[in-house]
Amino acid sequence: MSTASPAPIAYSDSADLTHFIAGQRVAATSGRSQAVYNPATGAVARQLQLGSAADVDTAVAAAQAAFPAWADAPPLRRARVMFKFLELLNQNRDRLAAMITAEHGKVFTDAQGEVSRGIDVVEFACGVPQLLKGDYTEQVSTGIDNWTLRQPLGVVAGITPFNFPFMVPMWMAPLAIATGNAFILKPSERDPSPSLLMAELWRQAGLPDGIFNVIQGDKQVVEALVHHPDVKALSFVGSTPIAQSLYETGARQGKRVQALGGAKNHMVVMPDADLDQSVDALIGAAYGSAGERCMAISVAVLVGEVADRIVPRLAERARSLKIRNGMDLEAEMGPIVTREARDRIEGYIALGVEEGATLVVDGRGHQVPGHPDGFFTGGSLFDHVQPHMRIYKEEIFGPVLVCVRVRDFAEALALVNAHEFGNGVACFTSDGNVAREFSRRVQVGMVGINVPIPVPMAWQGFGGWKKSLFGDMHAYGEEGVRFYTKQKSVMQRWPASIGKGAEFTMPTSA
Ligand code: NAD
Repeated sequence: MSTASPAPIAYSDSADLTHFIAGQRVAATSGRSQAVYNPATGAVARQLQLGSAADVDTAVAAAQAAFPAWADAPPLRRARVMFKFLELLNQNRDRLAAMITAEHGKVFTDAQGEVSRGIDVVEFACGVPQLLKGDYTEQVSTGIDNWTLRQPLGVVAGITPFNFPFMVPMWMAPLAIATGNAFILKPSERDPSPSLLMAELWRQAGLPDGIFNVIQGDKQVVEALVHHPDVKALSFVGSTPIAQSLYETGARQGKRVQALGGAKNHMVVMPDADLDQSVDALIGAAYGSAGERCMAISVAVLVGEVADRIVPRLAERARSLKIRNGMDLEAEMGPIVTREARDRIEGYIALGVEEGATLVVDGRGHQVPGHPDGFFTGGSLFDHVQPHMRIYKEEIFGPVLVCVRVRDFAEALALVNAHEFGNGVACFTSDGNVAREFSRRVQVGMVGINVPIPVPMAWQGFGGWKKSLFGDMHAYGEEGVRFYTKQKSVMQRWPASIGKGAEFTMPTSA
């Protein structure tokens, strides 16, 4: 492994977006391509070449060829590449954030936050020598020692959603690579540019060719990855039907799969909660990133008389959101990622009216001056939503907050626990006993007490319950290390300790 950085590959922001295989930009062979839009202007920004099964074969072969030497590299040498990658990411923070805003639409400061949270995982992966330390027990029987070690799996793949084009790949690749695997990223086709900058920075960091690869594409590429015999593990983040199907298909073929799915995150507001803080939390968590976050709050559960006090304040704030091009530093909310997604969200608002909910703020048809073709919608707010309504049950994934009124804490908890999703949840209260009871009893994977978006830190691991996660290991954190490695146990003795001949009874430590 060379320690000198290679010269950067020319990266033109106007070129077609291609694969990145074995250290090089590689054109797709399918002949298919797709437009990538700037959602603030509605204009086509780039063309993305879509991959084929043959391209997947090429990427897997390159990764497979690179894997043995990388797996054999001492963890400290792998960590040094992580440190260099970290340094390069820090130098490119704003460039990455601007790329995210240009293709996803979220406001630039939010994109900067996304980059920071992704970098957190790289910092965690820098500690890989410590993370890979095994256990050792001396003298498990006379003259015998037993220890465990963790070894990489081989070629592993990550399939990621549009809503965090940098952070979610960083939930996967740094730990997969630091633990000695070769990684193939299949980014979202809606905002693929950050994947190629990541690839370039890995290369500059001294990562051997073939250890980080990017395959662009859609369903066809995902199908090829899940069926490829040399892909040993799949990490998926996206919507629930695809998460569940990939989990089932991958597991049937003996692959490890962690598949994170959709969400409908509730925030319970107790009558004793600080009202100003609750309003701020709901507005930020419901409308930040235009509600296109898997940890966005999309349901406010209003307990008792708090509803009458809070709904008018939410309405006033939702009406006055600053909705602009995300590159405008004053913007609080940008556009929706695509025209189709915007139309789907606005369709849900019509549905909520049909279902009989009270539409307090209607964001449909929102116009942003100077951006007539941008994919904008305003913040919408429903009150008196009932649990049987589709706008309550289904993930809208847009800036639509629905309010459900309940009588008491028990009803709030039962409502949250009955929902099919269990990604994140929050409870705002000033009562420690309520907080404690809520966090113990709630059937959700990530809980915030007076914290609306409780995304766990890099060393703690991320994952929901119920239909928000298929598989049993969370993304990143120590479970991420375990996901990308298999444990081996070694028991050893030396000839002088071998006292008896053939033994026909179960060995014990007696
Ligand atoms: P998506 O499911 O449409 O796409 C995710 C990935 O799957 C993309 O790479 C896409 O190309 C691929 N894909 C799309 N259709 C496919 C198919 N039929 N077969 C195989 N692969 C396919 O999700 P999205 O719209 O990009 O992202 C939004 C969704 O992701 C929301 O449901 C959101 O809740 C979820 N999400 C969940 C988490 C979490 O941690 N639980 C985090 C972020 C996003």
